[in-house]
Amino acid sequence: MNSAGVNHQVPAPLPLRWRRLWLLVISLGLLLCMWQAAQLAREQALANLQDDAENELRLSAANLNGYLLRYDYLPQMLATREGVQRFLASPDSQDPMPLNMLLDRFRFTAGVSDVYLLNREGDTIAASNWHRPNTFIGQNYAFRSYYTDAIAGGQGRFFGLGIKSLERGYYFSSPVWLDDTSPDAQPDGVLVVKVLLDDVEESWAEQDAELFVTDSDDIIFMASHPELRMNALYSLTDEQRQSLRATRRYAMEPLTPSGIEVNAPYRQGSQLVSFSQGPLSGSDYLSLTRHIPEFGWQMHILKPLTPVISAQWIAALMAGGLYGVVTLGAGIGWQRLRLRREREAFAQRERNTLARVRDELEVSVERRTRDLVASNQRLSDEIEERRRAEASLRQTQDELIQAAKLAVLGQLAAGINHELNQPLAAIRAYAENARRFMELARHDKADANLEQIVELTERMADISAQLRQFSRKSSERQETISVQACIDYALRLFQSRLREGNITIVQDWPAETLWVKGDLVRLEQVLVNLIGNALQAMKGVASPQLTLGAHTHQQQVIISVSDNGPGIPEEHLGHIFEPFFTTKAPGSGLGLGLSISSRIMDDLGGKLQAANQPNGGASFTITLPYSPLTHNQESPSYA
Ligand code: ADP
Repeated sequence: MNSAGVNHQVPAPLPLRWRRLWLLVISLGLLLCMWQAAQLAREQALANLQDDAENELRLSAANLNGYLLRYDYLPQMLATREGVQRFLASPDSQDPMPLNMLLDRFRFTAGVSDVYLLNREGDTIAASNWHRPNTFIGQNYAFRSYYTDAIAGGQGRFFGLGIKSLERGYYFSSPVWLDDTSPDAQPDGVLVVKVLLDDVEESWAEQDAELFVTDSDDIIFMASHPELRMNALYSLTDEQRQSLRATRRYAMEPLTPSGIEVNAPYRQGSQLVSFSQGPLSGSDYLSLTRHIPEFGWQMHILKPLTPVISAQWIAALMAGGLYGVVTLGAGIGWQRLRLRREREAFAQRERNTLARVRDELEVSVERRTRDLVASNQRLSDEIEERRRAEASLRQTQDELIQAAKLAVLGQLAAGINHELNQPLAAIRAYAENARRFMELARHDKADANLEQIVELTERMADISAQLRQFSRKSSERQETISVQACIDYALRLFQSRLREGNITIVQDWPAETLWVKGDLVRLEQVLVNLIGNALQAMKGVASPQLTLGAHTHQQQVIISVSDNGPGIPEEHLGHIFEPFFTTKAPGSGLGLGLSISSRIMDDLGGKLQAANQPNGGASFTITLPYSPLTHNQESPSYA
């Protein structure tokens, strides 16, 4: 069975070159994403900044405009004051103090810097700062445009540094007519109001931007940053410098260039600028300019690009982070997919391996089983063979035992023959006698003879029974048998030989019956063998004596058959139980008796030993387990 059906494709790990390329692509993607996000954020932030800047600039310009214009009417109004005109009419003959004080009161009330009156020549004849060390009184301002404009009959406006104070100021002037009825009359003096610009600038300081105002020559004369003031926005040409000197507008200020550099124009009216020098250098700004037509000025606002830059960074970082998260997510997803596929492939491989191993195992089990069955069969055959061999051995053994027994019978035959012939001859004699007595009608005598015949046939039957008994095959049944009866039976077979040989029999056993477990036929065969051997050994002995003993010893019954023959030579003692060992002449012994007897004893769970007696003669000892007869046992075979 092969289950390797589905073949999962596992994405192989990327080669190094591809991995590097991927890394490069991802890095480039990251950079692009961050750059794009930064660009978008920059656009947005710049647009917002521009809106803010526009608003702030519009407001600040309106503010400045409003601030200055509210003093516009002041010199005109003062010029019509009676006190002013009266003093101007004859300044030399009058005390200037009342006018000075009037002007000072005005200055204070209107919140301006200075108020002063110039005569027709441009000399200051009265001033609100009459009491100050740098008072304008006595100063000639004929070179100022506010004088020339007003003395020409118009309204004058001027901005610049004060001659004495060197303060930046805005000057409003108005002609003073002593006689304003005639339309061609020349003005007799000029009234000037000077406004300081510091207050406006102070309000700018609160804004998150740099504000400055440039004039038509691009000179920064107002700026939220003090250091920026009195700088030229761009570098001045020598002619510009010369003409500025002539007006003395900015006194001797060096008017150094601000160092502004336009990096890039941005939308209409706005630019991205930075400064190569000065206080604002080191940062980038969005610059917007607004024209203030009332004064001929340009108002500028510089919004630092810091929020744009931080917005750019934040956007770039956020985009980078998002990109990272997405890339990481994709990477993790891909990795998980790879892992899952790898796991699946591994599991599949495992399944395949398992299936293969199982297949192999099945095959090997099958093979082993076949081997086992074969070897089992072999074993069975062997067992059968052995059983057959055993059976045949047993049969052979039995036949051997039987043969040995018949051999003994053969030996006995002579005696038995005699035993049978004798009564036969007697029966014949008695029968003839009986016939004669019958003929003689001596019935009583005939009857007596017949009686003898009956007795003799009974004896013969007895002998025949003994022989049958001995020659029968063993039942191989274990029974409880009486030792004494068994010895008795064996002895009977030798009856005639014992008698003829004048052999004394000594019987040595207790009165009570000794019981053993065994096979009667076999035990009898052993005893017959031993007795037979003893009788053979005692041939030629003067007074032969056969001693038969039986007694119990430690739960065993010991039966002994001893003779007073020559005994067994020492060198034969170790061999007499060997089959076919014999010292007898051919025809007298096969050399099987003792070996078979010993074997029979083993089978019965006992043993057979041989020894020589101290006073001559051999002694054979049978040892068998004692088997006391109990009441519930069957009646023994030999009682
Ligand atoms: P066999 O009687 O045919 O020789 P056995 O096995 O019965 O065979 O006996 C073996 C031998 O043991 C005999 O040949 C004999 O030498 C010796 N033997 C047996 N019984 C006696 C005995 N009672 N006295 C002396 N020797 C004996």
